[in-house]
Amino acid sequence: MSNDTALAEYLFLLRARFVILAVPVVLAIITTFVGGVPVGILVLASGTLLCAVLFIWSSLRTLSGDAQLLPSAELEDAAPPEASLFAQKNRLLRAIRDLENEHALGRLTEEDFETSREQYRAELRQVLESSDALLAPHREAAELLVEEYRRQKANSAYRSAPPKPPLECPKCKVSNEGDARFCKSCAFELGGNA
Ligand SMILES: [Zn+2]
Repeated sequence: MSNDTALAEYLFLLRARFVILAVPVVLAIITTFVGGVPVGILVLASGTLLCAVLFIWSSLRTLSGDAQLLPSAELEDAAPPEASLFAQKNRLLRAIRDLENEHALGRLTEEDFETSREQYRAELRQVLESSDALLAPHREAAELLVEEYRRQKANSAYRSAPPKPPLECPKCKVSNEGDARFCKSCAFELGGNA
């Protein structure tokens, strides 16, 4: 793949991000009108979560070297901070890979190799720390959404829990509600938790 094609693809993905972010919002507005506010909120929450997962997945893919490494120098000036960090990360990963190739071919002394690699790695750690700091507020928002979703799910599970079977009073044999603490006929303590 030529650099131009990779650059075009990168810019396309950058724009696609905004489109992808807009999709759950639009869907949520539509479903709010069709299915009411709770459905709209659920669609918005799940859509946003899906986006977060997609972003994390794509950045993990790049980290693991699975994804195509992107041209860096052309992008560093105009791009937003996260794109610049992304470009720096790619540049460093590529530099480390090149260094390892050179070393494998015997073109570097052990000492030069270790020194340069440690230098690149230190730079890479800094870039990753900065990008973590940049992403932290979004991660917090995503965690809040997950928490909210779990809470709602737990609530609805509680509401739809099947009623307890009726309790028969051991003293007078009258049938009581499953969660009754005292018999409605003789007031015998049944021990249900009302
Ligand atoms: Zn009774």
